[in-house]
Amino acid sequence: GGPGAGGGQRPLDLGAIRSVVTVASGKGGVGKSTTSVNLALSLARQGLKVGLLDADIYGPSLPRMMGLRTAKPTHSSKEGKITPPSAFGIKIMSIGFMIDEEQPVIWRGPMAMGALEQLLRDTDWGELDVLVVDMPPGTGDIQLSMAQRVPVTGAVIVSTPQDVALLDARKGLNMFRKVNVPIFGLIENMSYYQCPNCGHVDHVFDHGGAHKAADELGVPFLGEIPLDLKIRLGADEGKPIIETDPDGAHSQAYANIARQIA
Ligand code: ADP
Repeated sequence: GGPGAGGGQRPLDLGAIRSVVTVASGKGGVGKSTTSVNLALSLARQGLKVGLLDADIYGPSLPRMMGLRTAKPTHSSKEGKITPPSAFGIKIMSIGFMIDEEQPVIWRGPMAMGALEQLLRDTDWGELDVLVVDMPPGTGDIQLSMAQRVPVTGAVIVSTPQDVALLDARKGLNMFRKVNVPIFGLIENMSYYQCPNCGHVDHVFDHGGAHKAADELGVPFLGEIPLDLKIRLGADEGKPIIETDPDGAHSQAYANIARQIA
């Protein structure tokens, strides 16, 4: 190839995608995918054209969360492009559409990154105001190459209130800083539990840790989302809470966060 060919560090051309927001977390299971879905839907409700990319190559969960377990991408009329499935007015691409849900993905880093680049580049996203990217947990190769090759507008870091999860979030934050990705701020997920019967509030995983950490790290605290059965059921059954209860308190909490990153 000519000059620059094969150089893995060139930024990808994202065509008509105006901004890219990555949703990251220090470790798995803190609600990063749930947050990605609900933020994407909130942004769409605010009138933006939104796409959702599942970059969690090793544990894709967006097809299930968006009610698209059996959906498949199709060939686009545009040369070499694929048309992504869509749900609730959002275009979604995930490696989960191509592989069997029961089969583990055993690719090494470079292969996973190659797959991710293809999903980004070969998808017919059309015009998008924002592409929300659900990142894999942690700070490995994929996160690093994404930061280097994709012009990320900003990153949102999801954390639970416990100290351990927060320590991991700090690591993630430092990595973004090293590669000059702007940080929108921190979200505390599973922040508290309010009994639906008596209204009593319990701080199951402690509370306020993410706010404190955000202050210490000098990044904005974007908001807190409680631990709630409706959020879990919505995510696991492919009926996100933003769709089933758009005016509820939780949807408003997501909308507030979405306004800060739009
Ligand atoms: P991650 O992407 O960080 O691995 P997920 O978004 O897959 O995490 O969430 C892990 C599990 O926790 C899922 O079953 C999801 O439904 C549930 N969950 C996430 N956030 C909440 C919340 N605020 N309240 C209740 N359950 C939640």
